[in-house]
Amino acid sequence: MTRTVPVQKNDYIEAVFEDLTHDGAGVAKVDGYPVFVPGGLPGERAKIKIIKVNKGYAAGKLIEILERSHFRIEISRENAHKYGGCQIQHISYEGQLKYKENMVKQVLTRIGKLDDVKVHPILGMEDPWHYRNKAQVPVGEKDGKLIAGFFKPRSHEIVDTDESLIQIREVNEAIQAVKNIADKLGIPAYHEESHKGVLRHIMARYGKQTGELMVVLITKTPDIPHKNQLVEQIIERLPHVKSIVHNVNSKRTNVIMGDKTTVLWGNEVIYDYIGNVRFAISARSFYQVNPDQTKVLYEKALEYAELSGEENVIDAYCGIGTISLFLAQKAKQVFGVEIVPQAIEDARRNAELNGIENAEFAVGEAEVVIPNWYKEGNTADVLVVDPPRKGCDEALLQTIIEMKPKKVVYVSCNPATLARDLRILEDGGYKTIEVQPVDMFPQTTHVECVSQLILKEGN
Ligand code: SAH
Repeated sequence: MTRTVPVQKNDYIEAVFEDLTHDGAGVAKVDGYPVFVPGGLPGERAKIKIIKVNKGYAAGKLIEILERSHFRIEISRENAHKYGGCQIQHISYEGQLKYKENMVKQVLTRIGKLDDVKVHPILGMEDPWHYRNKAQVPVGEKDGKLIAGFFKPRSHEIVDTDESLIQIREVNEAIQAVKNIADKLGIPAYHEESHKGVLRHIMARYGKQTGELMVVLITKTPDIPHKNQLVEQIIERLPHVKSIVHNVNSKRTNVIMGDKTTVLWGNEVIYDYIGNVRFAISARSFYQVNPDQTKVLYEKALEYAELSGEENVIDAYCGIGTISLFLAQKAKQVFGVEIVPQAIEDARRNAELNGIENAEFAVGEAEVVIPNWYKEGNTADVLVVDPPRKGCDEALLQTIIEMKPKKVVYVSCNPATLARDLRILEDGGYKTIEVQPVDMFPQTTHVECVSQLILKEGN
């Protein structure tokens, strides 16, 4: 059946937004045909200009809001640059939480056919600003001065930013200080097009529980002009700094860091705590960016694992062992699996740092390592997964179904793949007991969930 498209490019239409897409754009419908409009909010009537028409949907531009949502928040033009990376900052926090919670419910029903699963109210932050413990900002030049900030969406133009409202203040301070010091010393910025210049990115990371700051200078050249003065002035200006690191990336690439990392001053790592587990974080380590909500998430995962001290636990996709070490305190033994070798090195170091002796780590693909363990006769009482956005590999899910751990705790950063995988596990003998959304990334559309599944009797 061919359906005629009811709008044309450059048309002006009036419509009501019914929903939000996963990127936070408003969805209006014209005779059932969807028009996606960044900035539109459900319940709002607006004037829209159609800018692109496809077979199944159109893209529009918000021209004027005729009826406003009470969830809408005004942002003044002069502050707009402070919201880099925020897709839904125009929605009140209450509205954001409602949107995320509804999205999880809808996706679980639509994709997972899980109509009766209990979805708890989302756990949000008391203060949903200044939560990110890390920033890595591109450096450029404008009118003879260094600028640093974020790329304009879909472009390589840098917006100079004096403050980001989602970064911890110490992180903002560090970025500004390094930018200003480098500018005064006349250290040139890297130019993407000519592949010339020096300073590519400034990265700052802050251990919120310890107050330790790391500054990473990422340059194209192996040498930094005025290096000693730069280091001295950073130490002078930033009292929290415990580590200044230099990373060289001489390639033409969008990847931020290169292979060579040296310590210019202080320690190679900074430390931080999640709960009472201490972590050593190097310039290259993965570490959760919202430590407060990470604690909330892991405590939920621990609660759902219902450990008595007798259990063997497998933590698949374990990263630097954050969840593994959290669980090891209450389990008999934890086995973590992760594909990135450096992350496993960090995991082992972190276990040692905490005197945790009942956690072991293996490098490899979860969908290969865990089936092998199972073939060798090793099983788990509780299996935790925390996969990347694409969800669990089918082979891993099949092994879980055969291995039959009594409990599965599924931590997910993508409700769509969570719903798909929960359906597979349900069909394989599990029951999803509950799902707890946690807001790890306020002002963005991302939503994290932790779910508990129990093996049904007779399986
Ligand atoms: N649980 C960790 C990290 C979760 S992020 C934490 O909470 O900090 C997902 C992790 O899965 C990443 O570290 C990524 O490197 C890893 N990963 C991706 N594909 C994988 C695979 N096929 N097998 C094992 N690990 C994988």
